Amino acid sequence: QSMAFGNMGDDCGTGVAFTRNPATGEKKLFGEFLTNAQGEDVVAGVRTPMPIAEMAEKFPEAFAQFENVCKTLEDHYRDMQDMEFTVEHGKLYMLQTRNGKRTAQAALKIACDLVDEGMIDEKKAVAMVEPRTLDTLLHPQFDAAALKESKVMGKALGASPGAASGKAVFSAEDAKAWAARGEKVILVRLETSPEDIEGMKAAQGILTVRGGMTSHAAVVARGMGKCCVSGCGEIKMDEENKQFELAGKTYHEGDWLSLDGSTGNIYDGAVSTVDATIGGEFGRIMGWADKYRRLEVRTNADTPADAKKARELGAQGIGLCRTEHMFFNDDRIQAIREMICSDTVEQREKALAKLEPMQQGDFEGIYEAMEGCPVTIRFLDPPLHEFVPTEEADIEAMAKDMGKTVEEIKAIIAGLHEFNPMMGHRGCRLSVTFPEIARMQTRAVIKAALNVQARHPEWDLVPEIMIPLVGELKEFAYVKSIVTEVADALIKEAGSNLKYKVGNMIEIPRAAMCADDIAPISDFFSFGSNDLTQLVFGFSRDDAGKFLDAYYDKKIYENDPFAKLDQHGVGRLISNAARWGRSTNPDLHLGICGEHGGDPSSVEFCHRIGLDYVSCSPFRVPIARLAAAQAAIKDA
Ligand code: PEP
Ligand code: MG
Repeated sequence: QSMAFGNMGDDCGTGVAFTRNPATGEKKLFGEFLTNAQGEDVVAGVRTPMPIAEMAEKFPEAFAQFENVCKTLEDHYRDMQDMEFTVEHGKLYMLQTRNGKRTAQAALKIACDLVDEGMIDEKKAVAMVEPRTLDTLLHPQFDAAALKESKVMGKALGASPGAASGKAVFSAEDAKAWAARGEKVILVRLETSPEDIEGMKAAQGILTVRGGMTSHAAVVARGMGKCCVSGCGEIKMDEENKQFELAGKTYHEGDWLSLDGSTGNIYDGAVSTVDATIGGEFGRIMGWADKYRRLEVRTNADTPADAKKARELGAQGIGLCRTEHMFFNDDRIQAIREMICSDTVEQREKALAKLEPMQQGDFEGIYEAMEGCPVTIRFLDPPLHEFVPTEEADIEAMAKDMGKTVEEIKAIIAGLHEFNPMMGHRGCRLSVTFPEIARMQTRAVIKAALNVQARHPEWDLVPEIMIPLVGELKEFAYVKSIVTEVADALIKEAGSNLKYKVGNMIEIPRAAMCADDIAPISDFFSFGSNDLTQLVFGFSRDDAGKFLDAYYDKKIYENDPFAKLDQHGVGRLISNAARWGRSTNPDLHLGICGEHGGDPSSVEFCHRIGLDYVSCSPFRVPIARLAAAQAAIKDA
């Protein structure tokens, strides 16, 4: 193999190019060329290269040949190519080609265009888009009005789209440190190198002084789906003093600036953002994904607003409504605290009477937002340490409200103390000790459904009541009997024929092991893979982060099992429980509602073991839809 030299004079050069625009997907040759240079000069971003189109003027013959090569390669690989080449004394040499990395926006456009060009079919198009990158389409852009008021300080290359506002920092270490204490930062660098990756991850956006669209910063940021503006040569950088000058203004460390990764504009100060709007190609790919997937995709939503957002993003129902989350707001938390701190049935009923209308109202809002789609409402599961008041003022307010002294309340709180709240008095254990809680929640769920059904006779509402933290058949049977007694009486009284379902979460290993006992009296199982992971590993959900890094460093575990389902251990338990459950109840509806429901590899696993649905947070719904389709296509 002989060497080709791009740095042997002005009739030589080197280039990096994509057959289509990797930022937008536009079908137009895109890249850069540098005369009298080697490939690494382009990638390192040390000199800012010329756009590829200018190569046509300087090297017309080599350029024409290059265009033909691009077509040949695309026709062969049926995908956008990322190529490196050298021109030595006017003659073209191809060094390398590979499928090009691209933004989510470009991935969708290229996939749709390739279908329209007859190069690939719909399934291939669905398989081509990396589900995780959809995140970048679903995240905020600058608010147009706020942008008008903002001052453009400079313009460089829009290397990776998105909008970012943050405080200037000048090193990867600082980016990490500032982000760790909750600050939003923009990482400003002369150019980036692999040592900067962690800092880039921590930053809202990246701004570089040198480098083109194929420089390290641009390529890596695009891969991360992170906003990046590169090659801003007007910046006078003073790294040592952690400051730079742009358009006559000196920016010190900590000063706010904003970046538009699509236009390349750099704005002074912080600019507010708005939710993303999704283009036509997104809808086409999602439509194809929906055509080929088997798994149903639901959402975890606790408020009417979240439910509405999830519905817009294609959720087919709610798989988990955490009812305790309805009380996180300042104006509501008092009521649930009173319920927790009640020491008599009367007091608890009084507190529950405050909660009931709030719950019923929210349930009505959620049913309306979901337009007749299934809604699974999980009964209260407040880990006590999250809800018991600790502030003196809150304790005083509660004492006043409940007609008790501060000391009495403090004594109650002390009595509620648990060494292991996650394994404590939560979930259905609350309903076993205080059945009035299950009664109140059943009333709220059923009355809300009766009201909404009356308003919308065209919908066939079937509320699904889900009992959390079940570990034993008799425990579930007890809580279920309370639910059915209250629900049936209300429905009868209303002269309605409303149907409802009662199912349980499987998040205690014992429930998984005894799934065949529980299944005959359960309408559905929803695997709570957060608690199940916690209890199968014996890792506290709240504390495991402190030591898990050592496990990754020592290659004992590769991933955070709370983010990506541990298929070998927790997954095996889920798969067996699903099989055991179906063995005694073939109609059992099976899903997952832990955080893993929106993780692509976990979604694939759920498809493979035959679950019926996954449920995830609203913004991850499109990711789950696409991942479910890819799993089905792979499986076919
Ligand atoms: C779970 O445990 O997986 C779950 C969904 O419930 P939570 O996260 O509310 O405990
Ligand atoms: Mg749980």
